[in-house]
Amino acid sequence: MKIDKNINLSKYTTFKIGGVAEFFSEAQSKQDLLDAIEYANKNSMPLNIIGGGSNILISDKGIEGLSVINKYKEINIEGKLEEDINIENNKSFYNEGEYFKFSDLIDTNERDTQKYLVKVSSGVNLTYLINETLHQNLTGIQYFSGIPGTLGGAIFNNIHGGEKLIGDLIYSATLIDKKGEIINVNNNFFKFGYDDSILHKNEHILIDAQLILFEGSVEKAKETAHEWIKRKRNIQPSLPSAGSIFKNITNEEKEVIQAPVNSAGWLIENAGLKGKTIGGAQVYQKHANYIVNIGFAKASDVTNLIEVIQEEVFKKFKIELIPEIILKGNF
Ligand SMILES: Cc1cc2nc3c(=O)[nH]c(=O)nc-3n(C[C@H](O)[C@H](O)[C@H](O)COP(=O)(O)OP(=O)(O)OC[C@H]3O[C@@H](n4cnc5c(N)ncnc54)[C@H](O)[C@@H]3O)c2cc1C
Repeated sequence: MKIDKNINLSKYTTFKIGGVAEFFSEAQSKQDLLDAIEYANKNSMPLNIIGGGSNILISDKGIEGLSVINKYKEINIEGKLEEDINIENNKSFYNEGEYFKFSDLIDTNERDTQKYLVKVSSGVNLTYLINETLHQNLTGIQYFSGIPGTLGGAIFNNIHGGEKLIGDLIYSATLIDKKGEIINVNNNFFKFGYDDSILHKNEHILIDAQLILFEGSVEKAKETAHEWIKRKRNIQPSLPSAGSIFKNITNEEKEVIQAPVNSAGWLIENAGLKGKTIGGAQVYQKHANYIVNIGFAKASDVTNLIEVIQEEVFKKFKIELIPEIILKGNF
């Protein structure tokens, strides 16, 4: 494992924003990941793991300690899952947004077909994972098509594709805790919530996970993936961004303000903020829950814009929008 110093991190993020990593390494294998964690522990430095960099904002002042780009990529179809397991479509905490629905594309029979366990390392890119598993005639993750990033980041935030959540598909996982000990856990460990998992709190590093996939209709799954990407492309910016900036509001908040949808974008739009620009950061015109980097944006432009949005939305609706993106480094 090679360790470099003072490497600019902006190119490792979809926002294309951010300062330097004090220490930097790329993990290509499980051993690299373990070595990186050991190095950080031995030198008593903070460890920061970055997957696809699609849900983070890195400070202009950079990040202290060791930043590791996770490129550990392995996929193994382990075989049939004979256990009779009921996979919930856990929607209890899911707030339907205005923009990303695809109820018409869901394969309602899929979860009743034969289940398979697939072991996937945390650095595997989601698009690659979807294509590879479909190629092996397994379905279930097509609903996350068009979402950038790695499996590690996806589990960290329990990503949502329409009303499907990645957390529902996790059978077990291997993690490393802060002391460098390897632990094996099952789904309950993660305490998956809306844009949330226990990884936000305990700073464990995900090494790999066993996913439950299905012998569903590959044709239908391919159609879903294709159509879903098409629909997302109509809304998502082509300029650098980090996806949705804020979490959607709860059903209770929606009722109080009598909003037609839970979408944070709706609140931002109705606070008159579409197109609002600070430095190189702009509220995206087509979908107000995105901030785009219109060129040379600093992290401080983004955080200033986030503050203005929060203030204006609060003034109008008395609701505090909670950022979905993760801030890294000193702000
Ligand atoms: C254009 C666009 C569209 C998007 N659409 C969606 C969408 O439809 N639904 C949705 O839910 N999200 C969406 N996102 C957000 C984002 O893509 C997801 O949250 C993604 O899963 C993040 O993965 P990543 O590998 O890029 O994580 P990163 O941004 O690299 O990291 C995010 C967090 O996860 C942690 N992390 C990463 N890997 C590990 C690991 N192995 N172990 C422990 N912690 C780890 C990081 O330390 C960081 O705190 C979108 C983003 C963009 C830019």
